[in-house]
Amino acid sequence: MAEYTKLTPALAEELKALVGPGRFYYGDDIPVDYSHDEMPIYGKHFPEAVCEVESTEEVAAIMKFCNERRIPVTPRGAGTGLVGGAVPLAGGVIICTARMNKILEYDMKNLCVHTQVGVRLCDLAADALTHGLMYPPDPGEKTATVGGNVSTNAGGMRAVKYGVTRDYVLAMTVVLPTGEIMHLGRSVCKTSSGYSLLHLIIGSEGTLAMITELTLKLIPAPSCDVSLILPFEALADAIAAVPAIKLANLEAQSIEFMDADIIKSSAEFTGNPIFPTECDGTPVGGCLLVTLVGGSEDELDLKMEKLAEVAEEVGSLDVLVVDSPNLKREVWAARSSFLTAIEADTKFIDEMDVVVPVDRIADFLLFVRQTGEANGLYIRNFGHAGDGNLHIYCCSNSMEREEFLVKSKIVMDACYAKCAEFEGQVSGEHAIGHAKKQYLRESVGETAFGLMAQIKQVFDPNMILNVGKVCTYVEE
Ligand SMILES: Cc1cc2nc3c(=O)[nH]c(=O)nc-3n(C[C@H](O)[C@H](O)[C@H](O)COP(=O)(O)OP(=O)(O)OC[C@H]3O[C@@H](n4cnc5c(N)ncnc54)[C@H](O)[C@@H]3O)c2cc1C
Repeated sequence: MAEYTKLTPALAEELKALVGPGRFYYGDDIPVDYSHDEMPIYGKHFPEAVCEVESTEEVAAIMKFCNERRIPVTPRGAGTGLVGGAVPLAGGVIICTARMNKILEYDMKNLCVHTQVGVRLCDLAADALTHGLMYPPDPGEKTATVGGNVSTNAGGMRAVKYGVTRDYVLAMTVVLPTGEIMHLGRSVCKTSSGYSLLHLIIGSEGTLAMITELTLKLIPAPSCDVSLILPFEALADAIAAVPAIKLANLEAQSIEFMDADIIKSSAEFTGNPIFPTECDGTPVGGCLLVTLVGGSEDELDLKMEKLAEVAEEVGSLDVLVVDSPNLKREVWAARSSFLTAIEADTKFIDEMDVVVPVDRIADFLLFVRQTGEANGLYIRNFGHAGDGNLHIYCCSNSMEREEFLVKSKIVMDACYAKCAEFEGQVSGEHAIGHAKKQYLRESVGETAFGLMAQIKQVFDPNMILNVGKVCTYVEE
């Protein structure tokens, strides 16, 4: 086990001096929220201190201090992660970026924005719109920081048309574990200039460097959009319709799926039964929620007509147009709160965020449901049908914690093995953290996993940064 230095009261005083007043917590003063993220089943781990930073220079000073003394450092944004990524497994210091929340400058000629890393996704998206621009990545949790999004390579609802967070990062400022400040990337549209350290940092979950500023690509906001709900008798029919929708060349901005159980949970949670549970007496087994965008109302009308034709061909029970701004807000708010709805009536939850080829979604979901039920768990699922990224929750209200952990591990092991058989990947967007390390290792194999660990060592020879995540172990 690595010998890390404990943060004695004397060291804590020195560290406090590097951070401004009111932004440093030590020992019993540390708010409990810093001990977990949004998937509490992966355990609570308290840091020894928290620094709520406001500048790159502060991060650099803290990092240098910790590296020289071998004190673990865990970067944290808003703590909305779902894999225990921002949880300090080895104690030490959390560097929280939530106060680095300034949007610094729009570059209207190069269509990008320069921002601090703690800006919340919802704030950036809303602010960009006031400039007529859109920041396309749209993960469900809008209070996450853009730094957290980049560090996990977050995906979200619009990935099927626009791609994921990685595709919108042009440049960044990072602090290396040694405390050195480095600028990566430029505001240019393409590059073929050596190894892309920028892309190595994106999705590295705070294990290689701490990001402090970002230059993010923006696009002109589409003039108009419309969402449509397509109900089907069975979830498998809904999933089977996806290739036809994609082949119709409508360039849908989102193609989300939800099953009947999550529709029910959502209605109970929001008190607003917004997704249909039956159509003309036929029970709905699953729905697609499709968003189309266009440069004009006429273009959008044509796309809607085409989608209606496809829907009929693939056996949709109806086509419900979400046609008012209020209704649109409610529908997407309900979609974004699916996980919160599950949490509201579930004692224990574990999650999977696999991505499988689109034509294997239905078979995979069936396998998970059967495996879950055979082990006494009930399953809730929804996700991004357009890109095969599935959010699957293994739940129990009847088991005690220990039994749940045993049963959910059996189900997870079987499902990740099935995912590999289907040529899928462990995580589509929530990343690895410490919860999914075993499955990453099994999925990529020893050579790739070993290379990842060596890359980590090059960036962080003292192994202080986000200990025990992705490809390293706390015991090392
Ligand atoms: C209800 C709900 C819905 C969600 N929906 C989606 C979704 O649709 N798509 C999706 O992708 N995710 C989703 N998530 C997961 C989560 O919001 C994302 O993982 C998000 O990117 C985390 O951002 P954060 O600021 O909360 O980061 P944190 O949780 O604080 O940290 C996440 C990881 O990034 C690292 N990190 C954070 N900031 C930095 C930094 N500045 N430099 C280096 N490393 C850093 C941390 O160490 C950690 O490993 C959802 C979560 C919830 C609770």
